[in-house]
Amino acid sequence: MKMQKEMRKFCPRCKTHTVQAVALYKKGKDRKVAEGARRHAEDKKGYGGQKFPELKRTAKTTKKMTLRYTCKTCQYKTMKQGMRIRKLEI
Ligand SMILES: [Zn+2]
Repeated sequence: MKMQKEMRKFCPRCKTHTVQAVALYKKGKDRKVAEGARRHAEDKKGYGGQKFPELKRTAKTTKKMTLRYTCKTCQYKTMKQGMRIRKLEI
């Protein structure tokens, strides 16, 4: 799917339609000292440590993409989550 670089969209902060830049959201690096990560590491320790079956092959052929819109006037960022696209061009 081809996406335009800029589009007019509603901005919740400006409360009107403004020109907004479109970008693809990418997940940040996981922190190893986060509470959930520490708990998971502790659970996986020792004999029979795997909590749930490992996913060998996935049924889905696409991944969910998240778009990130940045308002050009106030720099407010909104996201559009869960778009299933095989390929995204911006
Ligand atoms: Zn705005």
